[in-house]
Amino acid sequence: MDQQALESQEQLWGHPKGLYVLFMTEMWERFSYYGMRGLLTIYMAAELSDARGAGLGWTDAESLKLYGWYTMLVYVMSIPGGLIADKLIGQKKSVLIGAIILVAGHGVLAIDATWAFFTGLILVILGVGMLKPNISTMVGGLYSKNDIRRDKGFSIFYIGINLGSLIATTVVGLVVLKWGWHAGFGLAGIGMALGLIVYIYGQKYLTHVGNKTNEVEMKDQVKLTQLFSELVGSPVPLAIVTGLIAASIYFGGFVMTGIDHWGYAILFVFLSFVVGMLMMIYKNLRSQIEKDRFLVVLLSFFLVIVFWGAFEQAGGLMNLYAEDKTDRMLLGWQVPTIWFQSLNAGFIILFAVMVANFWANRKMKSKEASSLFKMATGTIIMGLGFVFMVFAVRDHQANGSSAMYWLVLAYFFHTIGELCSSPVSLSFVTKLAPVRYASLMMGLYFASTGLGNKVAGLIGENASHFGDYTIFAGIVVFTVIFGLGVIALLKPLKRLTHGAEDKEGSTDDEAEGFELA
Ligand code: GLN
Repeated sequence: MDQQALESQEQLWGHPKGLYVLFMTEMWERFSYYGMRGLLTIYMAAELSDARGAGLGWTDAESLKLYGWYTMLVYVMSIPGGLIADKLIGQKKSVLIGAIILVAGHGVLAIDATWAFFTGLILVILGVGMLKPNISTMVGGLYSKNDIRRDKGFSIFYIGINLGSLIATTVVGLVVLKWGWHAGFGLAGIGMALGLIVYIYGQKYLTHVGNKTNEVEMKDQVKLTQLFSELVGSPVPLAIVTGLIAASIYFGGFVMTGIDHWGYAILFVFLSFVVGMLMMIYKNLRSQIEKDRFLVVLLSFFLVIVFWGAFEQAGGLMNLYAEDKTDRMLLGWQVPTIWFQSLNAGFIILFAVMVANFWANRKMKSKEASSLFKMATGTIIMGLGFVFMVFAVRDHQANGSSAMYWLVLAYFFHTIGELCSSPVSLSFVTKLAPVRYASLMMGLYFASTGLGNKVAGLIGENASHFGDYTIFAGIVVFTVIFGLGVIALLKPLKRLTHGAEDKEGSTDDEAEGFELA
């Protein structure tokens, strides 16, 4: 990245102006995503005779199943989305193409026909895959290698994400009540169109970020085909990948039951290929520093899966808990269940800057504030939020219904945990990934969140078997132990980063082999 171009960026409120262009674009993209996602299950489960227009009339189980696959696939598609950016067209163009596909996808969903429903979903999956990882990598590209503002920049960007989600969940529901489902889907499309317009008009602030990796960086870039032909010639990796593929077909296709078992088989086979590709990329990296950083980013994705696997109970179990077991009467009026879904976004907008400042201050005082520490702490704080769900269950058992404040407290802890972890992970990936694989790594990050979503769904599906108490208490124990485990291993893990975060705030360019996305 051209240091001079970075230094000459126009600034606004202490950050490059490009940040606000990306903020607004992502805000509208998330508006469309969450607006549509909020409608999805209820539209699928609604009767043909529904007052809001004909639904699809599916059972709850069928709707939830498709929802689970959908929310996972949008993020898993970030892997090809990242690869296309790295290998072919750069992040900036990928975001543009993603935004256009998304406008088309949400537009098609506005049409009242079954073919339109499935076509729209596929387009949205492809569009998010192209846009989401690449716009996040571009945020990292706005800051120079040692810029201490990077984490805060991501926190501001994260506010944009949640502003979009908050507006969507409030407005889209009202539109559907008045004009029906397809008006709601169409509104998501209009939001995305606004995002596209902002992005196109804001290009002048993004001239130096998200471009195709330059020739110098690309010179030992390895082609995908070459990676796979190398894989075929490497006995150990090949044996591992073949084993994984065989296991995927066996478990997915034959051991798992239910209508979607072959879906799992395909997913696992795809992931086996991804593992093979990663092994070959690792082998081809230039230095031990690059290799170690690549490895530590991949390891951090386990934390990401655990985090989202627990966190995403919000839309499942916790939502049902709010609906069925919580006394929602407030001064003689019943609070709508869906409002609890807005708490997370609302808390983020209120507390994002505070949490970012807290960590920045710690860093200034040279106290532990590495990304891995923040991610682990975030996972523990989020996990502790489930303690309040355990209290809620006890309250329900004793009194027949549980108080609303348990849910509010749980969501509060979840949000503070998310703020410690999620924007930080984005920043971490852009700091450590080798430039020429920056978007792929970001794609893998989002794919991990997608797998976390799937795990959350699986936990939710089994809740009736184990009971709420066991599930919530189990999540507390698992996340806290996992987070503490990462903190115990912090030293060796940080060694793998080779000081990538030690020089932040200094003007010293000599941080070991530092690369910037
Ligand atoms: N809520 C965040 C977003 O929409 C995080 C989603 C995720 O990482 N899976 O960007």
